[in-house]
Amino acid sequence: MSSSKNTTQLFSFEFFPPKTNEGALSLENVRQQLSQLNPDFFSVTFGAGGSTRDKTYDTVLSIQQAGIAAAPHLSCVASTKENITEILNAYKANNVAKIVALRGDLPSGTMSAGEFRYANELVEFIRTETGDFFQIHVAAYPEIHPQAKNAADDFKNFKHKVDAGANAAITQYFYNADSYFYFMDECEKNGIDIPIVPGIMPITNYSQLFRFSDMCGADIPRWMRKRLEQFGDDVDSICAFGEDMVSNLCQRLLENGAPGLHFYTMNRAAPIEAIWNNLQLSDN
Ligand code: FAD
Repeated sequence: MSSSKNTTQLFSFEFFPPKTNEGALSLENVRQQLSQLNPDFFSVTFGAGGSTRDKTYDTVLSIQQAGIAAAPHLSCVASTKENITEILNAYKANNVAKIVALRGDLPSGTMSAGEFRYANELVEFIRTETGDFFQIHVAAYPEIHPQAKNAADDFKNFKHKVDAGANAAITQYFYNADSYFYFMDECEKNGIDIPIVPGIMPITNYSQLFRFSDMCGADIPRWMRKRLEQFGDDVDSICAFGEDMVSNLCQRLLENGAPGLHFYTMNRAAPIEAIWNNLQLSDN
């Protein structure tokens, strides 16, 4: 299998901020391993309701200080204009020039949405406050966001984020490549020409994958569900199947025009390295 990386493609790896010292040490190792693959950037999530604000910031700065671009995720939920301005200024002062701007999810209905209701409002605010300093990424949903009224409205809402000044989008993960190609066609018909980078979720754990997918609206096709069910607790077989399946998905995406790949690493290097090697994406 080979997809040969070209210089215009964008590759990025997503981490979540570690909660413990042990987690921080482990992430440091993962970051060092994945740095060998020479990604364009690492992104760091923003916990539901802003719960990891400081840890996201610290993780972003430590990545940036190690010499690789880092992109913090920022969400509308529980954010105010004042605290967003403050954090943007702090990132700017540290030369962090990429942001993933999101609405975020409310943690079990506990708090209000904040001063921004939807991600397009956050993108607009970042542009008004900081001009073109930040390269802004937004989320895209080839399989439709789970709370969208309908597919057409969801697409219109996606376009609002692009019109507000997003430079690129990263998709929710999916296992059905056709949903991505259909979304790309829709973008073309609507004059959207920013890179839409597929989000890739490696498969290493069956119950966690099903739980996440139910929450975020990612479809697990029946044939995959049945195969994964059949492996039961046999983690090696799940990982082998997942590696094969996801490598094939990535290859198909890259061969058919995807402008790169964004990997949801779950703070683990090995599953990403395996897919990367299968695709022969290393520079030399
Ligand atoms: P929006 O684009 O605002 O859309 C949210 C919903 O509202 C959609 O159904 C949309 O159709 C609808 N909508 C949008 N605008 C309007 C409008 N004007 N009127 C009516 N309806 C509207 N979550 C986190 O908490 N932290 C993270 O770090 C994080 N990282 C992510 C990274 C990626 C790449 C992706 C794909 C998702 C991530 N998420 C994260 C999850 C994300 O926050 C949720 O999917 C959230 O529910 C929607 O965020 P959004 O930015 O897509 O929202």
